[in-house]
Amino acid sequence: MEMTNNQFFLTSVEKFVRWAQKSSIWPLTFGLACCAIEMMNLVSPRYDMAQFGAEVFRSTPRQADLMIVSGRLSNKMVPVIEQVYRQMPDPKWVVAMGACASSGGIFDNYAIVQGVDEVLPVDIYVPGCPPSPDAVIYAVLKLREAIASGQAHGGVMRA
Ligand code: SF4
Repeated sequence: MEMTNNQFFLTSVEKFVRWAQKSSIWPLTFGLACCAIEMMNLVSPRYDMAQFGAEVFRSTPRQADLMIVSGRLSNKMVPVIEQVYRQMPDPKWVVAMGACASSGGIFDNYAIVQGVDEVLPVDIYVPGCPPSPDAVIYAVLKLREAIASGQAHGGVMRA
């Protein structure tokens, strides 16, 4: 965006849409394990994700554009998470929160998916066990940057 001498903003429709998308991220209410407790903290007064316009956790995937996978994903849950992801409208983004969601964590066994990127297109990985809410907020800020710059298109599901 640029300001002219007459105080008009000039921008493209694409940039304007990306600005709107990054400024109003709506996360899905979806927790899998202990990391979800820290995810809930995001909207507490202490962390206050509202200051970044991303506090409106939605209970239906049809109104959400960010899935924060908070916890380990079991093989049994794969069809469920895939269906929920498909129900989210495009564009949509995925954050893998914590060691379990990113890589299976300490659960190196047959029951746990060794990273949600085996089934979903992950945009941002957050390390930690569990990550602090600050770390997740940092991930959301990085996601906002990626959306604004056009690097995070969202919504490309792996076959
Ligand atoms: S990363 Fe740690 S806190 Fe998060 S789900 Fe795994 S074991 Fe629980």
